[in-house]
Amino acid sequence: MNRPPHRFVILGGGTAGWMAACLIARRWGPAIASVTLVESPEIGIVGVGEGSTPQLKAFFDALDIAEAEWMPRCNATFKNGIRFRNWSDVPGYGSYFHPFQSDLDVHTAPAFFFHTRARRTGRDVCAHPDRFFLSARLAEARLGPKPTENFPFDVSYGYHFDAQLLGEFLRDHATGKLGVTHLPRKVETARRADQGELAALITDEGEEIAGDFFVDASGFRSALIQQALGEPFESFADNLFNDAAVAMPTPRGTGATGCETVSTALDSGWVWQIPLTNRTGNGYVYSSGFASADAAETELRRHLGLLDADISARHLRMKVGQVRRTWVHNCLAIGLAQGFIEPLEATALHIVHATLVDFIEAYDADHFGCAHADHFNAAIHARYEGIRDYIVCHYRMNRRSGGEYWRANAENQHLSSRLKAVMTAWFRGEELDAEVDRLGIQNYYSAISWHCLLAGYGQYPDAAMLRVPEADLPLADMARIDRFLSGCVMNFPGHDQLLAHLQ
Ligand SMILES: Cc1cc2nc3c(=O)[nH]c(=O)nc-3n(C[C@H](O)[C@H](O)[C@H](O)COP(=O)(O)OP(=O)(O)OC[C@H]3O[C@@H](n4cnc5c(N)ncnc54)[C@H](O)[C@@H]3O)c2cc1C
Repeated sequence: MNRPPHRFVILGGGTAGWMAACLIARRWGPAIASVTLVESPEIGIVGVGEGSTPQLKAFFDALDIAEAEWMPRCNATFKNGIRFRNWSDVPGYGSYFHPFQSDLDVHTAPAFFFHTRARRTGRDVCAHPDRFFLSARLAEARLGPKPTENFPFDVSYGYHFDAQLLGEFLRDHATGKLGVTHLPRKVETARRADQGELAALITDEGEEIAGDFFVDASGFRSALIQQALGEPFESFADNLFNDAAVAMPTPRGTGATGCETVSTALDSGWVWQIPLTNRTGNGYVYSSGFASADAAETELRRHLGLLDADISARHLRMKVGQVRRTWVHNCLAIGLAQGFIEPLEATALHIVHATLVDFIEAYDADHFGCAHADHFNAAIHARYEGIRDYIVCHYRMNRRSGGEYWRANAENQHLSSRLKAVMTAWFRGEELDAEVDRLGIQNYYSAISWHCLLAGYGQYPDAAMLRVPEADLPLADMARIDRFLSGCVMNFPGHDQLLAHLQ
């Protein structure tokens, strides 16, 4: 018996909405599922968010979209990781690099773990993360993360991109190759059926757009999951103080194109600097409790050397937290409608993709039924908290000596029990990788990431208290690690060379 296609209706045409449209249409195809995306051009998209984790590569791979197809259209560059500057005043720790992982890490990470532990327990040994990881070297030398063919080791990488252009690319792909219907309409409200599930969206002109399953990708408005279905929002404001941002792109600088995000701490937050092929994205993420919008803009302009420049700034507000349940009745929330953990580690699109992958699997497994929704919701909720804890740790463990904002962060007692356990293990000189495993949080951030963060800030006993390591301590030969990484680096092309190959 032929059944009519299952009707998916997506509200919102930001990056999240189009990612959902692409993956859903691709998974089931037009004979099984129709996909309609409704968006209001009048409302528009948030249009910021220019950095990703390696998860965005998995998204494009799932759609069989080659880098040469999308990257040039989005002015995209490769990203080896994130450099954190000025988050610590400890001498020698003014900056550190948070690398994406590589196959080569098995040769250096054990030594890094051992050295950080030796240092935590009072030995004077080298324990700065930048000395141990390939991605840090690649970023420093402005090399692309894809080695030559005769060097068969994978290095994970993310991207930088123009968010507006990425949305347009995905829209064209969804409406072109995947047959998604695009309706420019402003939705006023939603009609619910007898059991409380959504039946249709109703536009401001009274038109009904009926569906079997709805995706709320309406941004911070959260028009379906929160407004129509009343799902509560759990704020992270106690853990994460930043709630505003001011963005100010600048023309591309001269010289080789950077392949790292730079995150620099300022008085009341931090500034991102993201290199695209045609410009640099800059934005100050701050707490409105500690700086006014005007003061933040002035501080950003001063930081960029643009105090008197005629470049306009864009101010944004952020709602940081998550909806209690992501999947309620026949509605899935995605993107900013689902939640947001501030942009520090560029995790928003990562969560969008991971959520969609899990949803598609769960919905498919129950043949378009909701039997797995509870399990799915619990996993998503835990993922948000796991990622949040890692972000909170950046602020709680900062080692800046001055400023009310940084002091308040350092004194913040709203910490999850898991984060407290990580910090305790670190300061007691225990094995942190074993603790990360024990807590079951390694899928959110790996032991390498936790070590890099805490070691990168110089969270060690004061230099004056360190002692010469015992002769029989099996320390790594740092000269050997340097030679190993320098040799590996020779197999990677210049970042600009790699970008030119995509054209
Ligand atoms: C300062 C800042 C920095 C960020 N940095 C990063 C980053 O580096 N990396 C990252 O991954 N993410 C980042 N993000 C998050 C990222 O911007 C978003 O996750 C991403 O853009 C997806 O947004 P969205 O699609 O959920 O919402 P939006 O872009 O806000 O789209 C919402 C859509 O819903 C539509 N809509 C809403 N209401 C209605 C209605 N009633 N009727 C019809 N249509 C409606 C709008 O028209 C729009 O199309 C950042 C966010 C902020 C605020």
